[in-house]
Amino acid sequence: MIGLVDKFGRQISYLRISVIDRCNLSCFYCTPAANGCRSVMGDALKLDELVRIVRAAAAFGICKIRLTGGEPLLRPDLIELVEKISAVPGITDISLTTNGALLKKLAGPLAAAGLNRVNISLDSLHPEAFHRITRGGKLEDTIAGLWAAYEAGLTPVKINVVLLKDVNDGEVSEFARLTLDRDVDVRFIEFMPITGDSHDWKKHYQPIDIAMAHCVAIAPLVEAESPENGGPARYFRFKGGKGRLGFISPLSRHFCGDCNRLRVTDQGKLRACLFSDEEIDLRPLLGQENAVIRAFSQALAAKPDPTRLDSDPLVRCRSNTLGMVSIGG
Ligand code: SAM
Repeated sequence: MIGLVDKFGRQISYLRISVIDRCNLSCFYCTPAANGCRSVMGDALKLDELVRIVRAAAAFGICKIRLTGGEPLLRPDLIELVEKISAVPGITDISLTTNGALLKKLAGPLAAAGLNRVNISLDSLHPEAFHRITRGGKLEDTIAGLWAAYEAGLTPVKINVVLLKDVNDGEVSEFARLTLDRDVDVRFIEFMPITGDSHDWKKHYQPIDIAMAHCVAIAPLVEAESPENGGPARYFRFKGGKGRLGFISPLSRHFCGDCNRLRVTDQGKLRACLFSDEEIDLRPLLGQENAVIRAFSQALAAKPDPTRLDSDPLVRCRSNTLGMVSIGG
């Protein structure tokens, strides 16, 4: 399967599924209140519902699945879920976005079950700052998860860093230098005002060009190949560097024209766009695969014109009122 093309020429081959709305960390930019997502379990999709959605997605033309959350590693049936998804004909790539805190034990079994790679959210390389950003997380756990991912062959490992003014912007060079001699992708992401406090956003938002300027000050950057149909990140590397640097700019630069994805929330709502609350409830359709496939077609048709989204980032992001924990990033 090669994916489908929407009316604006975007090839949609990728489905992000939020498999749980609970998280073991409580990052201030993601969760509005301290411990906000620890207490929410909700009525997340069951394993067989998730597998049905993936089967229909594959029949529709999706070949890449990303599992996210909340924190996907908190799902007790995650290994079985990965095993079942990897057996679905047409699915060629399964990845996971995680904070890595529980990955040390799970990386090996997940790789054995068919997981291909991981993105690890890591916003600081300093224990105190990490603890502050995550409201209680331990850096050593995430680092142990990162090493376990390498050992298990869940590569390329991508580190996601949300760029936060006066919080971690002083660490850009340290993060970027990791790519000089390590096979790692470090991706800087602009802080989006989705959920959370707009005061926090105004205080901590920083355009991605500032991160890029810090990187260029280390050594010249050369454009790097994007992963196949890699979506909205722009990739570079230091000349001779082993890893890549990714820059993701949902706010400061054209971004939606390269969108390659659809999303399913933990509640089974299919969403065409991160910047919209429009959704199709898949749960009542799960008994009939053709109805689910039709819902994917409707979502593809509903993907908005990339040139017509509101230019004000606050308005654009607030068109989505669901939390990142339910959408999955
Ligand atoms: N718990 C997992 C994790 O930490 O990666 C998966 C869920 S998290 C919602 C998925 C991604 O969304 C993470 O990389 C996180 O940094 C990103 N994210 C959350 N809130 C964001 C925001 N306001 N702006 C930009 N990225 C955000």
